[in-house]
This record gives sequence, structure tokens and C-alpha cells, in this order.
Amino acid sequence: MSISVEEGGPDLALLSDPQVRDALSALMNESRLAARWGGLSPETRQVHQEILRTFLTEGAPPAASEFRAETLADLAARDLVHVRDREIALAYPFSARPTDFRVRLRGVTIHAICAVDALGTAAMAGTAAEVTCVCPICRTGVDITVASDGFAVDHASRPEARVWTGVKDVGTCAADSQCKTMRLFCGPEHLAAWRRSQPPSARGFDLSLTQGVQLGAAIFRPFMQSPHDRAAS
Ligand SMILES: [Zn+2]
Repeated sequence: MSISVEEGGPDLALLSDPQVRDALSALMNESRLAARWGGLSPETRQVHQEILRTFLTEGAPPAASEFRAETLADLAARDLVHVRDREIALAYPFSARPTDFRVRLRGVTIHAICAVDALGTAAMAGTAAEVTCVCPICRTGVDITVASDGFAVDHASRPEARVWTGVKDVGTCAADSQCKTMRLFCGPEHLAAWRRSQPPSARGFDLSLTQGVQLGAAIFRPFMQSPHDRAAS
């Protein structure tokens, strides 16, 4: 079963870089995509997009009580939205709690779950984004301006920064597993230092900022699209 862009699947057509395509297929294999998007009802899709829209306008999620519990349970089973302590805690790419990955979109500050999520928000929202990611080794904040098309870097305070995208078994929640290995480092030295602390078997892709932005864009651009948007564009 193959998941189309209209259904929420990644936008491969926009990726020409083979390393980014490889990273994307390692992160989002067919079975994971099918588990996420397969048979998603239009009503649930609408709720998913409404939650993301509230994050984009308010910097915070809507109250979980605004939605039917069954709908939220469906989104949780698909690993798209998770409720904790009766509040929406996360809806990829966004987190209700502060993280090391901060995004400013149209003047609203929102926290992202991981580096790739932060870098993909511009493409999802269809606007330029100012992203700040904290290097896990030296705690330096790296500022990146992502262009309004969501696929290019306009400016970076540390152009040599690296995006590590770890490939792990996701289980039921990527935020608790895979996302913990999606980090942005101030440069190759600190990525290398961090990798030395990881098990030698840890797999992943060492990407440039532009590659990280393109990977995030391919994953998240379809999240806010509808078949109607696509036909119109
Ligand atoms: Zn560093």
C-alpha cells in the first residue's frame, strides 16, 4: 500500500538529493506511512489540521476537550497527536512543552519535537521560519532562517551545523524514540563527539542544514495540504 501526498505521505517529487531521499525512506517506510495515514477519515484529518492550525496561530494546542475522545485516540494510534494528562502534549511537528527546537512563524513562537520537525515547519505553514536549535554538546543556539518555500536556508548563524537523523525502531511514539536522535549540532566536531557516546550500532544520516530542511519539508508539507490545495496549486 502506497500513501499519496494527498493522504499525507511524503512529497518525494520535491526531493532531488539522493542522500535526503535515502534518509526519508529509512525514516518513513511504507508500513509506517500506512499505519499513520491509511484509511484516515476526512473528519479525523480535519481535526488533525485544526490542532496544527491552533499551534500555528496560538503557539499552543487547543484544549483536548474540544474534540471527541475517539478521534484523539485514532490520531494517537497513528502516532500523529498524543494526549497526556488530558492535554494535547504533541502534534508532530509541535510540542506543547518547551524543547531545544524553537520556531518562529508569522511572529508566533512554537516548540518543535526535534530538529527535522523544526526545519520542516516553514514548508508545512507556507511561510518563512526562524528556527533556533540548541547543540546538545555545547548548548550553543544555532539560528536558521528557512525560506518561505520551505526548501532552502536563507541564513544560518553556523552554516557548518549538522543535522543527525537517527534511524530507530519507532514503536508507538516517535517522539519518545526516533525524535530523541534527531539533533542539530553546531558543527561536525560536536556531532562526532556525540556519536562517540552512542552505541556503535546506532544508524543514521549526517545531513547539512539544507538537507535537513529538505527532509523536514518533504515530511511535513503534506500535513496541512488538502487534495483541494494541491489541485489549485
Ligand atoms: Zn556544539
